Amino acid sequence: MNRKTALAAAVAAALTLGTAAMATSQSVAQASATTQPGAGFQAMSTTGRLAALDQAGKEAAATAKALGLGPDERLVAKDVLVDNDGARHVRYDRTYRGLPVVGGDLVVHRAANGKITATSWAHDGALKVAGVTPKLTAGDASASAERGAKHVKQARTTNLDSSQLVVWAFGKVPVLAYRTTVTGAGEAGANTREAVLVDAASGAVLDTYEVNPEISGTGNGVNVGQVTLETSQGGSGYTLTDALHGSTVVYDSYNSPQSNPAQNARTFSKSTNSWGNGSTSSRESAAVDASYGLAKTWDFYKNTFNRSGIRNDGRGAPAYVHVDNQLLNAFYDDSCFCMSFGDGSSQNGNIPLTALDVSGHEMSHGVTAATANLNYSGESGGLNEATSDIFGSMVEFYANNSTDAGDYYIGEKLNMGNGYLRRMDNPAADGNSLSCYSSRAGQVDVHYSSGIANHFFYLTAEGTGAKTIGGLPHNGTPCNGDSFSGIGKDKAAAIWYRALTTYMTSTTNYSSARTATLQAAADLYGANSQERYIVSKAWAAVSIGTALPDPGGSTSSPSPSPSGSPTGNPNPGNALVNGGFEQGATGWTQSANDITNSNQQTPHGGSWYAWMMGYGSANTETLAQNNIAVPAAGSPKLTFWLKVTTSETGTTAYDTLKVTVNGATVATYSNANASAGYVQKTVDLSAYRGQTVNLQFVGQEDAYLATTFLLDDVSVG
Ligand SMILES: [Zn+2]
Repeated sequence: MNRKTALAAAVAAALTLGTAAMATSQSVAQASATTQPGAGFQAMSTTGRLAALDQAGKEAAATAKALGLGPDERLVAKDVLVDNDGARHVRYDRTYRGLPVVGGDLVVHRAANGKITATSWAHDGALKVAGVTPKLTAGDASASAERGAKHVKQARTTNLDSSQLVVWAFGKVPVLAYRTTVTGAGEAGANTREAVLVDAASGAVLDTYEVNPEISGTGNGVNVGQVTLETSQGGSGYTLTDALHGSTVVYDSYNSPQSNPAQNARTFSKSTNSWGNGSTSSRESAAVDASYGLAKTWDFYKNTFNRSGIRNDGRGAPAYVHVDNQLLNAFYDDSCFCMSFGDGSSQNGNIPLTALDVSGHEMSHGVTAATANLNYSGESGGLNEATSDIFGSMVEFYANNSTDAGDYYIGEKLNMGNGYLRRMDNPAADGNSLSCYSSRAGQVDVHYSSGIANHFFYLTAEGTGAKTIGGLPHNGTPCNGDSFSGIGKDKAAAIWYRALTTYMTSTTNYSSARTATLQAAADLYGANSQERYIVSKAWAAVSIGTALPDPGGSTSSPSPSPSGSPTGNPNPGNALVNGGFEQGATGWTQSANDITNSNQQTPHGGSWYAWMMGYGSANTETLAQNNIAVPAAGSPKLTFWLKVTTSETGTTAYDTLKVTVNGATVATYSNANASAGYVQKTVDLSAYRGQTVNLQFVGQEDAYLATTFLLDDVSVG
């Protein structure tokens, strides 16, 4: 099963990269403000990388043991990045009794001396799976998938479709599942495909995502103008094989179907080394665009981040132009490790989708697949799309092509009705994209939820206020009224790349993306740097988290942020931040990943809730919020909604949930409080009037029989 990640053109401002300012000499921390940061990684030769991967493979069993994984789990080394100081970041996928674990990936961070310093988990710790024998047959799963498909109509199973047994670890409790594909009518036409994850016991649909991309527009034709191409000479002539960029070959797909762009493909070859005529009357013209765009994207990653191709292995991915008929789209497909470009349609004057920013966007989907592998639905899907917009934009700046100046508009060359597909400075201007985080972020199309991260990136790079970039008007409009200067796009891109390749995993959501970028900024510029501070302000400006204290320095403007929490408190009368958990973990400290929007349980309101305990073995968990200002007047109360389900019987409290204020227990609930639905609980806080307090929920389970405590809509007022 593979997914295709689709078009999102990308644009940006103007990279003024000198050829001398490459990253090999950068130190990881405290890179000076005037140098290219390079994201802190060493350049690796192909053999060096293979040796590092081989070492990671040999260490896999010992690493699994050191991390406390169970005997049925295996780690499979996927990628290794080495810091300039020798520290290694080893990315592993996981299997459970030989089955792929969806959401089981992790990154082990090792110091130069080999010691494990930290681990970034997609799913914390060892997996407990009830068994690997499915109750449902693959046929049952396909039937459930046909009923549960969301992206296509009249879903059916065709001979192209498949069902694979996997462990699905996106929810709190990993379950055996089928990863099934179906085919139906959708945005990519009558044979649009969709992946559906189906619980192998209950048949419940766990997740869905498009396998085929959505249709997006192209712009005004790819007018890269007269460019230099790298080609190869062989036999009696030349071919479009770029030996300098991983032997990337651009093929003429000859209108092969999207599902198999190689079906009728031919190489471009001729006796002279001159290609295309600047118009679609020559089949070569679109190939020139693609060859140029992919080479520029390759050079951007190589010269900026020391990354050698999509998988950092020096290998180029084949590209196909003239795919399908009237295809107004382009996409990357990890299953063929290839890229497809359509010829456009009458909707955009039949301009081929081979613009520079499209090439950068699609190839960046490959980089994401090879690194964080952000799941292409929900919030992680928005982050996946945003990553392609961010680096697609950066490629446009990097290329510095006078016919397509860098800016932060996406697809401004694509002849779209309103002049662009998306814009990063003001995502909501397109009428669909989100500029600010809200509880809808996990529900809307990934090309709309990407707006939040695109907006974050723009504000980090360029700051607030109006600017003209690449000849287009931009206006960084924060969601919280803040005002600050950016740190520049090169530093912002280095932070995003390091976060993507080192800290993000398949399950990363907006809240954890904030954490990942703050860590990356600390690695590159220091924990007390202005850069890290601006990152925190930019997240706060898109309604995620609160800004860090100003460490002092020169990059930020002196204008004060508004008083109170920059994320705002949407619920006056509630002294808690994010009491409904709709902003994920924002404001909360949790000992496990309890805050979730998993559809395995039901929230009281919105789509997020806290799922505490439910292990059926001895365990403790905590969920806390600090600095809560209890009102000084009246009778302040803590209220929240609680749903308790248990396998225990009787009224003895075996498994408990305690509520503490400043460490003192103020209420206790247990398996004896089990209820069919949520019940509102109230705790008197009069004793804490006018004080700033710490609130903590502490769950404790004994060794036998599970009790689950679901919490939602917590309020102090
Ligand atoms: Zn895309």
